[in-house]
Amino acid sequence: MIPEPVVRQIQDRLDIVEVIAGYLPLKRAGGHYKAVCPFHSEKTPSFMVNPTKQIFHCFGCGVGGDVISFVMKYEHLEFPEAIRLLAPKAGVEVPQGRDGPGAKPSDGAALQQAVEFAAGLFQRALHQPAGAAARAYLQRRGVTAASMEALRLGYAADSWDTLLTAGQAAGIAPAMLARAGLCVPRDGATGWYDRFRGRLMFPVWDHKGKVAGFGGRVLDESQPKYLNSPETEIYLKSRILYGLHLAAPHIREHDLVAIVEGYVDFLIPYQMGIRHLVASMGTSLTADQVHVLRRYTKRVVIVYDGDYAGELATLRGLDLLLSEGMSVRVVGLPPGEDPDSAARRVGADGFRRLLAEADDVFAYKLKLLRRRHDPATVEGKVAICGELLPTIKRVPNAPQASEYVRALADALKIREEDLRIELSRIPVKGVGDGPWRPRLAAGPPPAAATAEHLLLGIVLDDPRYWARVQTDVAADDLADAPVRAAFLQLAAQAERGPEAVAQAVQALKHGELASVVARALMECERTDDKARAMDDCIRRIRGAARRRKLLAKQAEIQAAESAGDEPQTTALIGEYNQLVKGSDSSWR
Ligand SMILES: [Zn+2]
Repeated sequence: MIPEPVVRQIQDRLDIVEVIAGYLPLKRAGGHYKAVCPFHSEKTPSFMVNPTKQIFHCFGCGVGGDVISFVMKYEHLEFPEAIRLLAPKAGVEVPQGRDGPGAKPSDGAALQQAVEFAAGLFQRALHQPAGAAARAYLQRRGVTAASMEALRLGYAADSWDTLLTAGQAAGIAPAMLARAGLCVPRDGATGWYDRFRGRLMFPVWDHKGKVAGFGGRVLDESQPKYLNSPETEIYLKSRILYGLHLAAPHIREHDLVAIVEGYVDFLIPYQMGIRHLVASMGTSLTADQVHVLRRYTKRVVIVYDGDYAGELATLRGLDLLLSEGMSVRVVGLPPGEDPDSAARRVGADGFRRLLAEADDVFAYKLKLLRRRHDPATVEGKVAICGELLPTIKRVPNAPQASEYVRALADALKIREEDLRIELSRIPVKGVGDGPWRPRLAAGPPPAAATAEHLLLGIVLDDPRYWARVQTDVAADDLADAPVRAAFLQLAAQAERGPEAVAQAVQALKHGELASVVARALMECERTDDKARAMDDCIRRIRGAARRRKLLAKQAEIQAAESAGDEPQTTALIGEYNQLVKGSDSSWR
């Protein structure tokens, strides 16, 4: 394993132009150097070396990277061999040790293997002597051995390197565990440490039942109480519903899904036999989660903690479900209570009764608003309408919307006609308006690939731009898999601070993503006004992503139509309408 500072020193001390000039005749061309590419056959030089960014990139074959990457490719060397070759030129000493790959990225399968390995390790640890406290905690809370087994509960030892050491013995490199969000590079030093320590571990699965990430809960009162894996290539949080692979057959059977917030809320109701249950892993559902759910049922009951059952912002999130044509009901638990404590208090039958007696979301909101605002005053009426009319506007089913208008008019003692006029003034947001056949010509996306590279380049060049990307672009807006992978690697480091990001940027330049990174930096180099280019990129990327979604949906509609599946066709057209109107919340 080559220590990170050694790699950094080599990058800093060597000049890429000098090193490459030792292999190829370079010609100056403006601020760059040009050569005939050694990696593909060509007559006009399209191989460029950039001294400011210290990278090379071939506009012909796309190969690129930093000085280490060049030597690896030209000399056909592995990373540690390239380091050993370059170290004397840089006057840097490489400590002797067992060779191993550095922060070498790999594909989803290797990540999957890493998280699966960790899940097994945690699960076994729960039943070993070190796991006694965690076991006792679960037993105190009445969690049975069968539930522990079914939910693959585990324990992360209270140590800095249990997973790292076990992983290394099993041939899983620290860099891979880091990419899986399971270990973290040390601040200002070399090496890594385990992210999860002394925690009860809940594996989080994707809808196929493959472990994607983890949630960890402390056993005492220390903070943070819950710690979750960061988003990775295989852990796409906006799509995941905890427990869905277990619940799926039961959701179909009941034609109903109950949604709680976290995995701890899931545990006791699940154990009591409430099986049509998932956890959203957040207080509001994402559009992607809703799309996943509606494959199973259109009937949803949300069980909210007493503490946020009264939060309008949370309830507003449910409008998304309404506009998907889902029927939504809400169980608002008393303050201080959560699904876990409620299930213990009322038992299985009581919990089923809570679900059965849940209020329609509209009625629930109305009840809440009437407590907050006085419906007898004009101000009260205005406030209540301001909150509820947009909700009604979202309901695609006309008779149901009409019923809501009537109920609201009744509650506020105003004329229905006045409400309808007011309703018509609200801009349409994601409401399907009758049978309509979407048509969209297929064609090449508008230069989105370049926009994605440029955006990546801008962020690599100045990681302060990352915050903007994080808020304005979703990972799945990016069509180019290597660009997306590079962004995900930055995202994983972003929470660790600027130094970790800077390290990640350096590592990217000679990792498997080196070529894409070099191209991105090259694009960035040709851009003067970064802030404006950034706006432009984001707009183009989102436009292209939207277009892709529309085309995909159109294909689904055609498939459903030719299969003669009328209800499915109608549902898909509704979804298409929503995409057209841009109400998809993943656009942010
Ligand atoms: Zn080339």
